[in-house]
Amino acid sequence: MNEYIVDLFEFARTGRVAEGDVQLAALPRMVTEVPAEVSASGRADGVFHWRAEGAEKQVLRADGKPKVAQFLTLSVQGPMWLECQRCLTPYQEPLDSETTFEVVRDEAAAEGRPLDEDELEALVGSKHFDLRELIEEELLLALPIVPKHEVCPSVHESLATGEDGLAEPVPEPEEEDKPSPFAALAALKRSPDKGGK
Ligand SMILES: [Zn+2]
Repeated sequence: MNEYIVDLFEFARTGRVAEGDVQLAALPRMVTEVPAEVSASGRADGVFHWRAEGAEKQVLRADGKPKVAQFLTLSVQGPMWLECQRCLTPYQEPLDSETTFEVVRDEAAAEGRPLDEDELEALVGSKHFDLRELIEEELLLALPIVPKHEVCPSVHESLATGEDGLAEPVPEPEEEDKPSPFAALAALKRSPDKGGK
């Protein structure tokens, strides 16, 4: 009945693919990220496209022994309303993320994984796994740490109405060299957060 509930073990083992669109309104934690101004105006409609793909592969463990493991790749995309931290006006940030998880049986299996295999995040599976929760988590992780317009509209306006009436375009300062917030988040996500063994 709920298309988001899957047997994740079976999903991964048989290489199933599912995709669809989820409304922003159906993601309560994302809804709280929408600027109040946008929510109040009723413009906060949004749709995110998601795609989940299971896979089963033979992998080499740290000890050199082959083992069959299951994986889930989840991608999510869509525009999200955020408030620009530079000019404090709402804008839409395109979110786009793709993560591959290794599906594991339980928490113990997740924690028992050798540290050098931690490039892939462990995902504890279940026979009634809620894909929507994972979709929402991935979207939350894809949010920029400091949301801002690439070029703020108000900045342009003030440049265009300079005192001498000349609208000299001023290059945006140094934005290109900064690592993208997505890259920074991806790096954060990858760093193992479980302590020791
Ligand atoms: Zn702005």
